[in-house]
Amino acid sequence: MLGNIARKLRLLGYDTKYFPDIDDKKLIDTAIKEKIIIISKDKELILRAQKYNLQIIHITKQKQIEQFFEIINKIHLKNFKINGNVARCTKCNSLTEPIDKSNYKEKIPLGVFNFNENYWRCKSCEKIYWEGTHIKNLQVFVGKINERLQ
Ligand SMILES: [Zn+2]
Repeated sequence: MLGNIARKLRLLGYDTKYFPDIDDKKLIDTAIKEKIIIISKDKELILRAQKYNLQIIHITKQKQIEQFFEIINKIHLKNFKINGNVARCTKCNSLTEPIDKSNYKEKIPLGVFNFNENYWRCKSCEKIYWEGTHIKNLQVFVGKINERLQ
């Protein structure tokens, strides 16, 4: 339910696991083992997780930016900058690294290649990122957040 939020957190560099389809018991076990914070809209899951003393963020708002603030208010996230050196892959959550576009010419659509200078790549699944629509939308989103944080 919160896939968009998960992708944004990853691009911003936060280690974010996303389970679109996992049963509560398994998720709680994972959270205990890996000391992760549970972010969910699922009231039942939240109630169950509370019994285990886990760090939980219950998302109640509809709008994405308001959901983001529910997270920020609870765990004081900072550093809302998109940076290819710290971003994580939206697909697999691995770290990314900057690349020289000339080495990846065949993997980048020509229209993109000609108009973008900065690229980075997932160290694990090798997905390539550039400052296309996705990043620009995120930049606008992040800009709104930073404005409200001042
Ligand atoms: Zn990846």
